[in-house]
Amino acid sequence: MTRFNPNRRTLLKAAAAAPALALPAPLLAQVSGPAGRSNPPYFRFDVGTARITVVSDGYLGLGVDGLATNASLDEIVAFLEAHRLSTEQNYSHTNHVVIQTGEATVLVDVGSGNRFLPTAGRLMDNLNAAGIDPSTITHVVITHAHPDHIWGVRDGFDEPILPDAEYIIGAAEHDWWMQDGLVDRVPAEMQQFVVGAVNSLTTEGLEWTRLRDGDAVVPGVRLIDTPGHTPNHMSVMIESAGKRLLALGDAMTHAYVSVERPGWHGGFDYDGPTAVETRKRLLDMAATDAIPVLGYHFPFPGVGNIMRDGDGYRFVPAIWNWG
Ligand SMILES: [Zn+2]
Repeated sequence: MTRFNPNRRTLLKAAAAAPALALPAPLLAQVSGPAGRSNPPYFRFDVGTARITVVSDGYLGLGVDGLATNASLDEIVAFLEAHRLSTEQNYSHTNHVVIQTGEATVLVDVGSGNRFLPTAGRLMDNLNAAGIDPSTITHVVITHAHPDHIWGVRDGFDEPILPDAEYIIGAAEHDWWMQDGLVDRVPAEMQQFVVGAVNSLTTEGLEWTRLRDGDAVVPGVRLIDTPGHTPNHMSVMIESAGKRLLALGDAMTHAYVSVERPGWHGGFDYDGPTAVETRKRLLDMAATDAIPVLGYHFPFPGVGNIMRDGDGYRFVPAIWNWG
């Protein structure tokens, strides 16, 4: 069954309740660390010969009730308590991937800019902090057209933030959001998402390259269909010199909930059962083929492996070599 659960009102209510959001702007900046005084908002490593930099757009303070719409709040709270996680707030990171391979520099998703929550929209500052000149980005891949992934595509003057890059999105994802009259056919709480997606996709000066399952963005970077979170969500497979990394996008939105309870429907999943099918397929693939994964909303930098654990799975964060 197809359902609409994205709920901006609930989200904003949760954000309003988050203590960090009540702080004056300078303090807020310290809490979320845009300038990376002590905690750099980026992390760099290699996959084969490709250089990967995970760059944060900030964080989203979400309600824990959105972690599952087909489980009771008691079950959610019990899960969080067992994992020593906050039962007050789902502190959700936003991990962007920059892939430098050959002549190309590929950025996955553009964050939410200044259009969504004040704790996010730091991507451009943080690219600079990571020493990546935005003008060197040759390709921008959008996994799906939700606010935290695409609303940052244009600046305050409605101009593209990266005017010289090639913009790529799944063909069916693009076409779904761009259907005539979609905004009138979705529930009220979904309308802002549709308007924001359409405004982003129709940004003046942008042309979209529409790719399909298996298509390459550049050699060693290809899209794979991972539907459910949105109708035609895409994940990004990076392959170089025999090494791989799967950037999940929002096919899994939580390092522990999505992996250990893949059957729970996330509050922002468009089609719960399809999202479950996709998660189970990805978990099996990542565990069987030992493919490291990177979750956009996983704890920064969001990279690790999927292990089988009894009948289920477990996320094991990568241990970084600081050398
Ligand atoms: Zn997201």
